[in-house]
Formats: sequence, C-alpha cells, structure tokens
Amino acid sequence: MTSTDSSTTTLRQATPKRPLILIAEDEAPLTTLLRYNLEKEGYRALEARDGDEALMLANEDTPDLVILDWMLPRVSGIEVCRRLRGRVETRNVPIIMLTARGEETDRVRGLDTGADDYITKPFSMTELLARIRAVMRRIRPAFAEDVVAFGDVTIDRTAHRVKRGNKDIHLGPTEYRLLDHFMQHPGRVFSREQLLDAVWGSGVYVDARTVDVHIGRLRKALNEPGQPDPIRTVRSAGYALDESFRN
Ligand code: CA
Repeated sequence: MTSTDSSTTTLRQATPKRPLILIAEDEAPLTTLLRYNLEKEGYRALEARDGDEALMLANEDTPDLVILDWMLPRVSGIEVCRRLRGRVETRNVPIIMLTARGEETDRVRGLDTGADDYITKPFSMTELLARIRAVMRRIRPAFAEDVVAFGDVTIDRTAHRVKRGNKDIHLGPTEYRLLDHFMQHPGRVFSREQLLDAVWGSGVYVDARTVDVHIGRLRKALNEPGQPDPIRTVRSAGYALDESFRN
C-alpha cells in the first residue's frame, strides 16, 4: 500500500462517491432516524422538509434514490414525484414513497404517479433499508454487493482484496478506488475530470494527467504480459471498463 505519488498521500481522506439519497420528509425525528441509518449503511443523505425544498435539492444534485413522504407541506409528495418524473435528469431516479394512509387506492395512485415502491408508516427501519438495498441492487448492482466480478477480476469490498483469476492483486489506495469505481459502472466512459471528482473527491485540485499515472499503475498491477486489459482508453474521452472483457 505504499505510494510515492504525493496526490495519494495528501488525499488519503478521499472516499469513493457513495450513493446519494434524498429524504423528503417533514417529521424531523423521522428524518434524523433515516439519515442516521442511511449513513450507517454507507449512503450519503440529503434532507428536505417540504416539497419545494425536495425539488430544489434534486435539481442541484441528482440523487440516486428519493425517499418521499406522501404528505409534505407546500408541494405534496405526489406532486414532487410527478415533477421529478417530468425532468430528464430525474426521470429514472427511483422513488420510495412513505405514506401514513393505508388505503389501497392511495397506494395504487402512488405507483401510478411513478413511485417505484411505497412503504406505510409506521414502518420498521430494517424493512425500509431492505427495500432500498433491493432498489440499489437493480440500479447500481456493484454497490450493493460485497464481492463483485467482472471477467476474471474480482473485488472483495469487505476484505479490500482484488484478484485476477486466482492471483492476488496488490493495489495502492487510489488504484483500488479507481477499480472500484469502474466496477460500479461497467462499460461507462469516464472523463479524467469525472474520475478525479469520483475518486479523489470534488473541489480538490489535481492535474488531470494524474489520472493517467494511476490508470497506468492499475493496469500494471492487473495485467500480466499478454493478458487482455480490462481498462479501455477512449481517445479524447477518458477511460472505461471494457464491456468485451466481461465474457
Ligand atoms: Ca408528512
């Protein structure tokens, strides 16, 4: 785990981007409880106390999932849901509706509006977290799993261990976070700036070429001579985990 590059030592605190969950709920004690449990599970949480604030926050930073109370002040949960579905950026963001009402018609209306799931208050935190995990498994499969494989590369997040075939791969912290980020979004092309933001953290100044240096180290650690390279360089765009490597 040694590194001679100053960027990895000075940026040791940087962590990969955890999924962002927007909590839109006007009952403060419930919001506090939700935030506590979500953060404990490794998510980042944003709080909105009314519908207007929920829409504003979702507009500023697209969440990965929204927990949306049905009965919200100013703009109702159901209206927030409609408006989120109406915007390109938030159209596909999963929404779990919280409702105090038990009526079947309301539940159906909730799902008609575009909510992915609903849960009736009072609910158990265990149940809600299980529903969230189920949604996250669907939208970001690699986040919810401890062990993720892509081709013959596996990453074990609990043990912080990477293997290629049966061979242990030793990565520096930055190379590990890079690989973890790619494994969460196989096939997706990331620019150097996006990788800096996701792996080094936003608001940190590091030269974009630093990314190339760490990609080089990651490749060197992963690939024996003659082995196919799972990392694809996309000319003038950035890097991606090569989809053809999967098979
Ligand atoms: Ca409410």
